[in-house]
Amino acid sequence: MLRMNISGLIPKNLEDRGLLVLKDNLRYIEDILDHRRIPREGIPEDKIRLLLKFLSLMDTDKDPKVVRVGEREGRCASRIQEELVSGFCHGIGRSGNLIDPQPKAPGASAMYRLTNDILTSFLRNLGLKVYGIGLPVATGLSLSLCLNAARRMYNSNVVIYPYAAHKSPIKGIYLAGFRMRFVETKLYGDKVKVDVEDIEDAIVHEIKEGNNPCVLSTLTFFPPRESDNIEEIARICEEYNIPHIVNGAYALQSRYYIERLRRALKYRVDAVVSSSDKNLLTPIGGGIVYSKDRDFLREVSLSYPGRACATPVVNILVSLLSLGMRGYLELMEEQRRCRDLLEELLNNLAEKTGGKVLNIDNPISLSVTVHLDPVEIAGKLYNLRVTGPRGVRARDKFGTCYLRGYPYDYIVISAPLGVKERDIVAVVEKLENILLSR
Ligand SMILES: *Cc1c(COP(=O)(O)O)cnc(C)c1O
Repeated sequence: MLRMNISGLIPKNLEDRGLLVLKDNLRYIEDILDHRRIPREGIPEDKIRLLLKFLSLMDTDKDPKVVRVGEREGRCASRIQEELVSGFCHGIGRSGNLIDPQPKAPGASAMYRLTNDILTSFLRNLGLKVYGIGLPVATGLSLSLCLNAARRMYNSNVVIYPYAAHKSPIKGIYLAGFRMRFVETKLYGDKVKVDVEDIEDAIVHEIKEGNNPCVLSTLTFFPPRESDNIEEIARICEEYNIPHIVNGAYALQSRYYIERLRRALKYRVDAVVSSSDKNLLTPIGGGIVYSKDRDFLREVSLSYPGRACATPVVNILVSLLSLGMRGYLELMEEQRRCRDLLEELLNNLAEKTGGKVLNIDNPISLSVTVHLDPVEIAGKLYNLRVTGPRGVRARDKFGTCYLRGYPYDYIVISAPLGVKERDIVAVVEKLENILLSR
């Protein structure tokens, strides 16, 4: 298609050499399109840009002979806007169904399908036998779309929610128009968790009352709230034949969570939702939904009202292509090292300050008890230019996820994907200075 006619402009041997170099550069793009899998090695940025350029040049707003009279024709007031959406001015989706091809945007439609294929291969490489789709909304709204899909497919009318104090999923449940039935957490030593028997009781209760419950469980959370036992919940949901959505906001970055998902996916899991920014290092704004059930994913996409901005999806594609599988596995490895380092440093700190590191199963975050006001400590850390740690008071029921009194004031520090060892060293050093008021 691209006739690169430089014949006669330069000597023949130079021409051959030049065309050879060009061909090998274009091969990156051919390979991505041929294989539709996550590359082993990351792809250089200029090739990714070229791929996006080629794809966006297929959309009808780029047609040099186009006659555009609709009210929505991918018109832009400024080229800046075209750059901000990587050329995909038409967005993605058709008549509110996200994954349906848009006649005005063959390039954006191909880009979206390509992203989902590459995302699926990424998830499979991590060991999850699922299909994945990228969504143009973050975790809370993605959960809303999944719950709406559960209503469309199974007439669900109440969400059973083992209490986890994050506002996004709770708002997501209400936005989807569901009644919510909390299942309370209980305290086991330092650990805050929800009993599976209590979840089963809630299911039985709702069914008895003639309702169609579904369960929204939480895999990733801050300590002292432990992960829900998603394996057992999945087994129970299979037994009662009710939908089960898992909030795995940052599940993809850790082997521990992936292994738990693998076990849960043997039973009833209709969809898992993860954040594109927490797991794939994109700017905020995208969600990843994955499932063994392609029909469910289709319902999720059908739940989206309207056309969507392509950028969150492009961001997912760019992350997957630029990291490659190797880059991602290296980041996971670094995350694990940083988590171990954080534990070691916090244990040393606790010894000096008379606190303790809470005994909670969590592959990302740790909590250390403190004798000063934890909210003030978090404020001081912020002023020392540290972002991320949370200070939670024992009596803050929302923060602790525990509706009675929690025994400790504490600070939560995370070592998530993308963190560097020097960040871990610096945060613990600054925390030590505050606690020993130096
Ligand atoms: C990050 C996170 C969310 C975030 O939701 P967004 O809609 O992406 O802001 C929800 N739940 C949990 C457990 C999280 O960690």
